[in-house]
Amino acid sequence: TIATATLDSLFRLIYSQEQQTDARELGGPVTPDVLNKRVAAGSTYYLAILDQVGHVLAASAGTPARVLAREASQPQFRAALTSPSPAPTGISDVLDDGPAGTRLIETVVSYAGATGRRMLVTGQPVSTFTQFLAGALQPMAPVTGGRAYVLDGHGNVLASVMPSGQTRPPNPALVRKSLERASGTYDAGGERYFAASRIPETSWQIVVSAPTASLYRGTTGVGRWLPWLVLGLSAVAFAAIAVLIRRAVVTSGRLARSNAELEISQQRLRDRARELQRSNIELERSNADLETFAYVASHDLSAPLRAVSGFAQLLANRYRGRLDDAADEFISHMQSSLDHMQWIIDDLLAYSRVGRAELAPERVDLDAVLADVLRNVGTDVEEARATVTHDDLPEVGGDRGQLALVLQNLIANAIKFSVPGADPEVHVGAAREGERWRVFVRDNGIGIDPEHGERIFKMFQRLHEPEAYPGTGIGLAIVKRVVERHGGRIGVEPAPGGGSVFWFTVGDPPGAPAPRPEPVVAERPQAPVAAQSSES
Ligand code: ADP
Repeated sequence: TIATATLDSLFRLIYSQEQQTDARELGGPVTPDVLNKRVAAGSTYYLAILDQVGHVLAASAGTPARVLAREASQPQFRAALTSPSPAPTGISDVLDDGPAGTRLIETVVSYAGATGRRMLVTGQPVSTFTQFLAGALQPMAPVTGGRAYVLDGHGNVLASVMPSGQTRPPNPALVRKSLERASGTYDAGGERYFAASRIPETSWQIVVSAPTASLYRGTTGVGRWLPWLVLGLSAVAFAAIAVLIRRAVVTSGRLARSNAELEISQQRLRDRARELQRSNIELERSNADLETFAYVASHDLSAPLRAVSGFAQLLANRYRGRLDDAADEFISHMQSSLDHMQWIIDDLLAYSRVGRAELAPERVDLDAVLADVLRNVGTDVEEARATVTHDDLPEVGGDRGQLALVLQNLIANAIKFSVPGADPEVHVGAAREGERWRVFVRDNGIGIDPEHGERIFKMFQRLHEPEAYPGTGIGLAIVKRVVERHGGRIGVEPAPGGGSVFWFTVGDPPGAPAPRPEPVVAERPQAPVAAQSSES
């Protein structure tokens, strides 16, 4: 392309100069003589001047008949008349109408004449062009085995350059293909590559060719693999970047999704929390209502019940033994049922009071409390031939009366639920559990199936018939309520060797220094030092 552009510029330069000279020297009337003289003076076969429609104004000797016959339709004429360049010029393919059939090139230069446009037709030996073209082609075959040609529109060689300086006609395949395409490959005892470029305003083209192998011949040493290495590394880098970008896109998508989901679940949580709060308030209110109801009902029931009990007592006193046996039995059934009812009502009242009374924690010496309790249950202990032992009990924080209720209930149960025929043995102890005390009451009684370990702390839940073990089923519910109001936990475990261990936790007295935590001890060995134990 560079070579054709160079030749085009050269042609333009030459012919625009010629055009000016022609206009000056051959613009007016011309005679064949003038032209003949010119032919004789230089290396030109013929000269002719035509007007723009092809009429011959003058022609030298040797002008071919086709020019004289005004065959101005030939390409070189068309080009001279139509080419848009400032110096319209046409250059023919190789023609063979020189003297004695010699090959020539015909150029047609259009220039301004006195009576309009004129065309100067010049026939010149091919060699005039060959040298000039070869000069321009010289730098065109730099690779090994490279060749460069200037071919006319029919594939005639106008000039050629070969590395060894030899002149050989171009391969027919090259000629054929270069007329069809601007580049490609052809076979000439090995694949060769060619590129063709047309010189503007002519049918000539410059064709360069070289063995394909020499064009792509590999370099050696570092140069051989370095480009591949760089290429490989770049590919890897691009792949890594692509993966990272993809990952970032995917991750950010996922993140956005999770965020949205999180937002939704947070919203749900907030809704749930609000609902829960509402239900809590509702529950508290209905609990308070229920509490009031239970309290009022049991309280108000107490008075008539006592009255009925009183009358039953009167009935018994006055008429027992005076009616028949059945009547005596009815009266005693009535009395025991009334007693049981009174018991239930008393327990219910006790339960209600535990919930209603404001808790004012004070320093409570559990040893002293236990002593009171043991005095209260003294008769039961004696009747049941029970033994109650205890460790040194700590000082704790809480309501003295309520804590006494807890111990009393647990000890009473421990005595009550004894194995028939065996003397009840009860032990009360305490151990440190983190920041609280764990107080326990252990018995050798009938034990509790762990399956019912939770149930028995609920209201009216009993595992036995009242005939076997009397009771209301409220005692442990009261105990649990007190313990929980004190911020503690309660539970029951099977005692080693039979029986049960009821335990609950309770905090230190108010204002006590934070205790040093000790490992949890479920139970101390019973009465480690005789002096520390007391029997009741
Ligand atoms: P009550 O003693 O009036 O029956 P409680 O609430 O005190 O009611 O006890 C509930 C149930 O738990 C009892 O009926 C009994 O079945 C069981 N229970 C309580 N204490 C013991 C214990 N020390 N040994 C075995 N069972 C017990």
